[in-house]
Amino acid sequence: MNPEQKFDIRNMARFGRIVLAGMMGSGKSSVGKTLARLLGWPFIDTDQIIEKRSGKTIAQIFAGEGEVHFRALERELAAELRNAGNCVIATGGGMLLDPENYECLRRDALLVHLRAHLDTLVRRLANTTDRPLLAAEDPRTKLQTLYEQRAAVYEKLPLQVDTDGRTPRAIAQEILAHFLAGQKVLYEGKYHVVSGFNLTGQLDKFVSAAGMSSPLFILIDRKVWNLTRAWLLPILRERLADNFRLEILPIAASERRKSPRMAFRLWEHLLSLEAERSSGIIVIGGGVLTDLGGFVASTYKRGVPLILLPTTLLAQIDAAIGGKTGVNFKETKNMIGTFYPADYTLLDPLFLLTLPARELRSGLAEMIKAAVIADAEYFDFLEANVTAILQRKLNVLLPAMERAAAIKIEIVEQDPYEKTGVRMLLNLGHTWGHAIEALSEYRMRHGEAVAIGMVMAARLAVRRGLCDPSVEARLTRLLRRAHLPVEIPPFKPEEILQKIRQDKKRAHKALRLVLPIKIGRAEIVEQVSDAELHAVFS
Ligand code: NAD
Repeated sequence: MNPEQKFDIRNMARFGRIVLAGMMGSGKSSVGKTLARLLGWPFIDTDQIIEKRSGKTIAQIFAGEGEVHFRALERELAAELRNAGNCVIATGGGMLLDPENYECLRRDALLVHLRAHLDTLVRRLANTTDRPLLAAEDPRTKLQTLYEQRAAVYEKLPLQVDTDGRTPRAIAQEILAHFLAGQKVLYEGKYHVVSGFNLTGQLDKFVSAAGMSSPLFILIDRKVWNLTRAWLLPILRERLADNFRLEILPIAASERRKSPRMAFRLWEHLLSLEAERSSGIIVIGGGVLTDLGGFVASTYKRGVPLILLPTTLLAQIDAAIGGKTGVNFKETKNMIGTFYPADYTLLDPLFLLTLPARELRSGLAEMIKAAVIADAEYFDFLEANVTAILQRKLNVLLPAMERAAAIKIEIVEQDPYEKTGVRMLLNLGHTWGHAIEALSEYRMRHGEAVAIGMVMAARLAVRRGLCDPSVEARLTRLLRRAHLPVEIPPFKPEEILQKIRQDKKRAHKALRLVLPIKIGRAEIVEQVSDAELHAVFS
């Protein structure tokens, strides 16, 4: 992330590049050139590059070395393009059929299928002589056969655009409308994380992709419901009510209600309303609701499809990602829970517009934590844009949120069930943070406590000679600019130490700590003494 990023329209783009696919004659080159010009990005035509490099036309390569050789050249080029920056790529007609090529080209890309009628293709290609795959028989039958071979790949691409009777500019216009307002897939695999504006407007698509059936249960934070009902209810009705019975359950979110008792009530409710195993649960709310709703979804009938729409910054970049669900039990937070990643987690910054400032700052602390653990450039970006984030400038908030979410995904993917220890890195600042949060009787927000904990961790790292004092100074400065606390409230040091020890004892763990080594890297250290923990308070 470039901290000097100027937020013009191109930086609003939801994808790093556009990849065009489709049959020969579908207009990939002309549309691609137009798009590239409009965006000010380079245009790459894979067939042209191969011709240039080999000094031969595609037809000559096919005639001389054969199709197998041509496909090898294509694969080589696809691998080179894997890390190409912002650009528009027109792919050769068969290029995306190779799964390796597909993997290389899909990264950070809006993949577009330019569709055209067979008649249009035949007409457009009538006078061409340089299309080897059309050379043999009558072009119409050949095109038909080729399309049938490729349809399975083409028709799955996220954006399908009809080109018949339209100019390249009109087609480019449609692609750009999607490109700037569309969504970005941050992770796809067994679960999906998608970010973008107005994702509720596309809920029907996600509900059907998650295989949900009627009735649909929408568990929504009561505060969020009161704030958004005017626009959210019509959207839910318009998108879902035709095909699903909607059961909207507003729930007042609080740590007290994140409880087995509340889970029990929800199970009862689901049962009384005849929820089936494929009935879906959609949770709209902060971390309290995503934890509680996720837990209920994972346990009712051994698990029902789940979509999370986190509405706090903290939930968007942390709680709703990574699959941990849970409820509090016997004074212990998150004591009972499961690992159950939602089918879809949808990150929409529009929800943050109504979030109280203190909650926003609490989420910002988690963003800063992600940067300290894993990404020095992202830290630079936050330093340059902290004010814009606090002002909720959407074009800054969106990429900032996406990067923090991506860091969490990267770490969780290395240790999905918290077995290898990698996931522990996410606990930077938590040792002190949890103690402070508990001593404040949860009046302090989680992010605020983590902010103080991070400063303590940096201080200890400096004392141990593990990191340069400038790290503590930079971190403290950024937290201050984010209006986050950096000093321990006036609790007795002994109380804090006792709380830390209690936490560890309860978890049957020796005291291990995550310490920053430099901005962008943290490590786990063992055997931390009470004296060391104590020393950072003074
Ligand atoms: P929260 O859910 O309590 O939300 C904070 C407050 O903001 C609440 O008052 C809520 O009603 C309100 N709110 C939510 N969205 C709003 C919006 N868009 N506009 C206006 N008000 C809104 O708290 P949180 O900070 O989101 O989450 C904290 C919880 O997350 C804790 O229970 C914690 O244990 C959990 N958590 C879980 C994980 C995990 O991996 N599962 C990770 C971190 C935290």
